[in-house]
Amino acid sequence: MCDENVAVGARVRVSFGRKKVVGIVLSHKEKSDFDKVTWLKSREGALGYKLKSVDEVLDDAPLLSKDILDFLFWSANYYHHPIGEVLASAIPKNMRLGKPAEIKKARAFDNQISSADFDTTEEQNNAITTILASKDNFSGYLLHGVTGSGKTEVYLRITENLLQQGKQILVLVPEIGLTPQMIARFEKRIDGKVVAIHSQLNETQKTDAYLMAKSGEASVVLGTRSAIFAPMPNLGLVIVDEEHDGSFKQQSSFRYSARDLSFMRAKLANAPLILGTATPSLETLKNVMDKKLTRLILSTRPGETVMPEVNLIDMRSQSTEALSLPLIDKMKQHLNNNQQVMLFINRRGYAPVFYCTECDWKAECNHCDAQMVYHRHINRLKCHHCGAEQIPDSSCPSCKQSTLKVLGYGTERLEENLESYFPDTPIIRIDRDTTRRKKAFAQHLEQINSGEPCIIVGTQMLAKGHDFSQLAFVGILDVDVGLLSLDFRATENLAQLLIQVSGRAGRSEHKGEVAIQTRYPNHPIFEYVRQAHYTQYASKLLKERQQTQLPPFSHQAMICANAKNKTQAETFLNEVAQLLRSIDLPTVEIWGPVSGVIEKKADYYYFNLYLQSVDRQALHQMLNTMFGHIDSIKASGSVRWFLDVDPIE
Ligand code: ADP
Ligand code: ZN
Ligand code: ZN
Repeated sequence: MCDENVAVGARVRVSFGRKKVVGIVLSHKEKSDFDKVTWLKSREGALGYKLKSVDEVLDDAPLLSKDILDFLFWSANYYHHPIGEVLASAIPKNMRLGKPAEIKKARAFDNQISSADFDTTEEQNNAITTILASKDNFSGYLLHGVTGSGKTEVYLRITENLLQQGKQILVLVPEIGLTPQMIARFEKRIDGKVVAIHSQLNETQKTDAYLMAKSGEASVVLGTRSAIFAPMPNLGLVIVDEEHDGSFKQQSSFRYSARDLSFMRAKLANAPLILGTATPSLETLKNVMDKKLTRLILSTRPGETVMPEVNLIDMRSQSTEALSLPLIDKMKQHLNNNQQVMLFINRRGYAPVFYCTECDWKAECNHCDAQMVYHRHINRLKCHHCGAEQIPDSSCPSCKQSTLKVLGYGTERLEENLESYFPDTPIIRIDRDTTRRKKAFAQHLEQINSGEPCIIVGTQMLAKGHDFSQLAFVGILDVDVGLLSLDFRATENLAQLLIQVSGRAGRSEHKGEVAIQTRYPNHPIFEYVRQAHYTQYASKLLKERQQTQLPPFSHQAMICANAKNKTQAETFLNEVAQLLRSIDLPTVEIWGPVSGVIEKKADYYYFNLYLQSVDRQALHQMLNTMFGHIDSIKASGSVRWFLDVDPIE
């Protein structure tokens, strides 16, 4: 209750039990039906019975405008997630804490802008004019261009045009794709303020960026997934770059996909949407088939640059696990030409297995179903799932002999091995361990961009749109895990990764080369990757998905339960399954519960229950009914559970 007239979308301070909490006014009511104000802290907030008075109004003008609230309500509804948590993930922490909505440290924006010194190609031109022709309405485009084909250039030209009409542009990029390079490219071209929104900023910077988007002062908002919620009154275009990337999906608390939400965001703003990539996800290709997206193709790289040549190295005839002789030869050849080479291995640390050669004992995590990874520079065994660490024993804990060894390779061991082959060449290792420090990644990139010959060793952090102009050769190690995985998306993701990583090679005038080491050289995926025929491979995978009725030809939701007590987690899901089966919706299939890919993580046992239907509405109807009855299931002990709509593992 409140005497003043508080606007919907404004923040208020209210006493809640003994505490005072910050909430957001969502509607005006005489009586409580729970949704007058949503507390930003917790789910409990939804249980307030009597209307209490507002202690303090924090915003004169609403923090959240009607359009952004409409979008947030739509999102909460689609993901069946409490609106309070949705709001909390959509606004910066300082705003949740009730701090004043004022820009603190307006950063100096004195970009020296310069226009491009080349003409667009015919294909680029076609993309630009097609998209600009529909600039005042929602229409969705897939900008499908090989790596280096000039997609970013298309974004820039459309942005330049729309800014002249006072529009704001939202650009979403993958978590690690938001490099200073990308920001600099926009700043150099755009006559307006470019603000970045990502996790490396401090709270003041995050709040300032948010408020500049909201005031319309920011012309371009460039951010990772949470930027999809940035308030932008003049939003005129939404771009999702590298749309296939998994990091657009949030995998904790409010599990949304910024890529999927970008459709509704653009629709509500009557603005066009561009999904850009060299390797479209099958979901996106299905949207093209269904005419929800129009595909615009950039088939070649502009200028002289050609696509790299891709070769396989059959590891069955090599005596080593990691660096085969043909690979070393190729590296030498390109380094001697004063070029850079890159090795890609998707595992950090020194070695993934630490074991006893006599009794087969292996170092395993005490809290997870996982092996400990050895990290040499700190001499520790680490669990990459729960973070547990220990100093390795010098003799086997089981048979007491001094016969402990490591097996397999991670980035750290590869780096060490390379030092012996290439003692005079700088080696730059890029993985989560070497980039933990703020700015470390940027410094590594700077060294690479200086162009001196070097060997770059890294994990998938390197697969994202970095443009290394002196990189002539890419070696890909250890892809076989992806071929053997049970996840139905594994081969799709592997093909995307191989093509993206290959695309790093040969951006300069030299023809690039790629070598892939594998023990399965006859797997069909390689023939497509070698010829850069991603679309054909994707069509083949789409046919398989259609035959098996898997996404994107059906829709899934996953209910995950976990508990310290294994039976409790499983029993809970069995009861949920029973409840779901009692709902009469025959088009929805229910399977499980099945144990998680890693059953035990940080002492909790994980089980999943899957719902799948070709009819999205039926699936959501079942979820709504489930939420109406789930309180009747007495979860014994402390079972935690969550719902994941459109899960990707
Ligand atoms: P993508 O985003 O598809 O990887 P970019 O837009 O980064 O490709 O383009 C790759 C490189 O080619 C960049 O250095 C860019 O400046 C340049 N480029 C883009 N379009 C053209 C063009 N029409 N003519 C010449 N160079 C171009
Ligand atoms: Zn662990
Ligand atoms: Zn032993």
